[in-house]
Amino acid sequence: MIAHNLGYPRIGSHRELKRASEQFWANKITRQQLQDAGRTIRQGNWLTQQQAGITLVPCNDFSFYDQVLDMSLTVGAIPKRFRPLLDQPDAAHQNADQLTLYFAMARGYQQDSLDLKAMEMTKWFDTNYHYIVPEFTADQTFTLLSEKVFDEFEEARQTLGTTPKPVLLGPVSYLLLGKEKEAGFDRLDLLDRLLPVYEAILTRLQAQGADWIQLDEPTLSLDLTNGQQAAFAKTYNRLRVQFPKLNLLLASYFECYGSNLNLAIQLPVDALHLDMVRCPSQLDDILQTDFVHKSTKLSLGVVDGRNIWINDLEKSQATIQRAVEKLGQHRILVAPSCSLVHVPVDLNSETNEQGLTPEIKQWLAFARQKLDEVVTLITLFRQPENAQATATLAANQASLVARRESTLINRSAVQARLNQLTEKDDQRQSEFAVRQPLQQARLQLPLFPTTTIGSFPQTETVRANRAKFKKGEITLDQYEDFIRAETEQAIRWQEAIGLDVLVHGEFERNDMVEYFGELLDGFAFSENGWVQSYGSRCVKPPIIYGDVYRPEPMTVRWAQFAQSLTNKPVKGMLTGPVTILQWSFVRDDQPRRDTCLQIALAIHDEVVDLEAAGIRVIQIDEPAIREGLPLRKDNWKTYLDWAVRAFRISASGVQNDTQIHTHMCYSEFNDMIEAIANMDADVITIETSRSQMELLDAFVNFNYPYEIGPGVYDIHSPRVPTIEEMVDLLQKATNVLPVRNLWVNPDCGLKTRRWPETTESLKNMVQAAQTARELV
Ligand code: GLN
Ligand code: ZN
Repeated sequence: MIAHNLGYPRIGSHRELKRASEQFWANKITRQQLQDAGRTIRQGNWLTQQQAGITLVPCNDFSFYDQVLDMSLTVGAIPKRFRPLLDQPDAAHQNADQLTLYFAMARGYQQDSLDLKAMEMTKWFDTNYHYIVPEFTADQTFTLLSEKVFDEFEEARQTLGTTPKPVLLGPVSYLLLGKEKEAGFDRLDLLDRLLPVYEAILTRLQAQGADWIQLDEPTLSLDLTNGQQAAFAKTYNRLRVQFPKLNLLLASYFECYGSNLNLAIQLPVDALHLDMVRCPSQLDDILQTDFVHKSTKLSLGVVDGRNIWINDLEKSQATIQRAVEKLGQHRILVAPSCSLVHVPVDLNSETNEQGLTPEIKQWLAFARQKLDEVVTLITLFRQPENAQATATLAANQASLVARRESTLINRSAVQARLNQLTEKDDQRQSEFAVRQPLQQARLQLPLFPTTTIGSFPQTETVRANRAKFKKGEITLDQYEDFIRAETEQAIRWQEAIGLDVLVHGEFERNDMVEYFGELLDGFAFSENGWVQSYGSRCVKPPIIYGDVYRPEPMTVRWAQFAQSLTNKPVKGMLTGPVTILQWSFVRDDQPRRDTCLQIALAIHDEVVDLEAAGIRVIQIDEPAIREGLPLRKDNWKTYLDWAVRAFRISASGVQNDTQIHTHMCYSEFNDMIEAIANMDADVITIETSRSQMELLDAFVNFNYPYEIGPGVYDIHSPRVPTIEEMVDLLQKATNVLPVRNLWVNPDCGLKTRRWPETTESLKNMVQAAQTARELV
């Protein structure tokens, strides 16, 4: 039985890689210094894993930006626009080595008369990690371009004194995760051109002494066509014939193999990895097939690589035992369910007891602790009497019991309220057709009412004041005076330029989820629990450990203050239950649905209190509903049912003439428009400006009855939009949607912008709305 790991966090336990890369990009450190920082992290990771007792330690899981981009560089899939950085060893580009090319592909490049747009980035399956999307053309060729995997193998071998296990994104998933950049071909057609490069990689790794190779093929967790399935069979049969001696470990994760299970167990690989956390049932499915009579090993991913809770070691032992009985222990590997890049590095970096109390800490395992869990499981199997392992097991069981019974977690009032929810609790008083005229009568808004999405620039001053307050350098009163002054300015200024529905500006909020998490019971915050989101960007998700409960109103004071300054309606601004859930580490001792409904009840209470405080318009942001969609379509309906219900619970309980808005920062709505409509929000604001309103089609085709604010300008760039272009966009919208349902607003919140462009842009936007009114 072998202990192995699929990948380890590469940002460093104190985000050393983030700091080094950002300094390198700012020309503050040299390439050599960046390389050194990377090497220090890699070597530290290898030794940590070895010392923990992991036998097969992964290498090539390190990356300066993203492992998919690494693969693009390795197989020479360099989009044409970046060729100048590749081909020209002229004076200006003499230093345009691979690292420059690499970062240019990730982040764009503006220098020496070159202006190269970065490659697109998208979410890695259902995680919050983002990868750089490979770009393919019909005449695509591949060539072995980068030495990274060979260098890291050698470096790891020397560091460890044993043979490491190189990790490669498998060829089929590599192609499937990319995009055709022109019409007329299918990216899977490129397989025959790509495989020789993979074969060259394996040939060299074999020559270097590699024994096990981990090929990640996570697209096996998705619904695949017959053609895509055939590509897997073809690829792995071919690699098998060419490399009879290499041990190939095929890894998929985040979902069941599902409809690909038969394919997966037939593939001629040496070991198949199972995500036993996401899909506990597939082990038994496999053990009922003739897989039992083969020699293929199973890698049991029993330790959760996506979440931060300690493992139930006894339960994992039982799982391993079941597999051993059928297969024999020589056919078992034990591992985390997926790469550990999705969890923070080390719980031992948490020393501030105000963040994670000792009681909560004993329930948690970060990447470093998960290695111990894997090794303990193996030890318990090999030496059931081992003193240290049995003590660990006993402590583990005690922590689990403590967690189950903790008064921190269980709030009977919350649970009772959840159990008493009925149909009525997710329903507004009347349907939208009744509400709309009542809201219109109360709010008296013009056609094309103007508004913004919530946040105004989080300037250096705003952040500095918050930091000072957190450090105790200014008092709460001083901090709040400052926030009040900022809010008042924002209100005055919005009135002056003539916006119709105002916002308070969100100056008091650090982050749209953290802010609420800090005010709700059942949430804890780590000090160093950083997880890579993309490139050097990391997030520190809140930890939802217990029943969620709102001890007191959260935003009412600020909303009331803002509303007291003006006669125009000020929008109350809340983050929705699904988004709060989606951007947190969620407790695993009850269904996600239940946690989401608990958050929904807390938001519901806030909505009711806002209304009672005189707030007439309330926005509940749900930018994360879409990213919560399960990987397989079969599971969409169940998810959307509870996600939409959670939103509806938040929004119900107010009078017909209180207007509920929601906001989402994307506009691929085609495949979920029915669910969006079921949210029953009076107004939805969405991002559309970059698509020239084409993304409204989903709403038009569906006959979406509610009011819509399609964003009229892109907030991601400092560019000030002209009045004409916004009028133009509004006309496009008017052509397809009823005029009285249209709102005018930017694509998203303005917190990342600066004031000068914000005021200019919004003045133009108000003018555009005025012009549009005159044109109808
Ligand atoms: N109200 C939030 C803001 O304006 C919405 C942010 C978001 O959609 N991500 O910042
Ligand atoms: Zn947004």
